[in-house]
Amino acid sequence: MENPDLTVETEARSSGRIQRANGLAGDVYEAIFAQLMSLKIPPGARITVDNLVREFDVSHTPIREALGRLEGEGLVVKTHLIGYSAAPQITRRRFDELYELRLLLEPAAAAKATATLDEERLAVLQEAAGVMARRVGKDERLRYSNFARQDAIFHDKIMEFAQNELIRETLNHQHTHFHIFRLMYHSRVTEEALDEHEAILAAFAAGDAHAAEKAMQVHIENSRDRLLPAFE
Ligand SMILES: [Zn+2]
Repeated sequence: MENPDLTVETEARSSGRIQRANGLAGDVYEAIFAQLMSLKIPPGARITVDNLVREFDVSHTPIREALGRLEGEGLVVKTHLIGYSAAPQITRRRFDELYELRLLLEPAAAAKATATLDEERLAVLQEAAGVMARRVGKDERLRYSNFARQDAIFHDKIMEFAQNELIRETLNHQHTHFHIFRLMYHSRVTEEALDEHEAILAAFAAGDAHAAEKAMQVHIENSRDRLLPAFE
């Protein structure tokens, strides 16, 4: 499925200027988000408002707005008298803790969600899984950051359908997907994950709770193994 926003932004970015079709603040936000996710702005790096103003040829207001939103998502930190910087890389210890938490919660939630899925919910998951958007968009960075967001939505939707808001909130608060995708910028991270999402969807479609649980476990274990080299 073609994402019209993606096309507009890809064109806008290649011409070096942000266009207003998607709402200026939204476009600026997406552009900075893509740079953070694809490590063009590396973890811990200073972010200078004036530089972004020049790069995107916009005023200070949408830049500050975007940085405020990114701060709320845990991707940007603001330090008194110093200003903005990209959030630091998660530590190896926190990475291990995150994956332990995910493995405890998400496979069981996938099994539980299976029983609640009707056609409408399956369609929601199908779209969020990102499988159809596999090769859309020429801008690699934008495609990568788009997948990171879709992955977050896909996993969150499964939590929603599993109907435990406390578990859902707990995982949401970690901003897991935004942190893990920043560990490594590589197409393998998304391509293999898409295949695993398809396996989860197939189990859901078959109404097989056990298979859904297993597929989710395999997906999270593989995700961990794909990203581990970032710490070497
Ligand atoms: Zn995933």
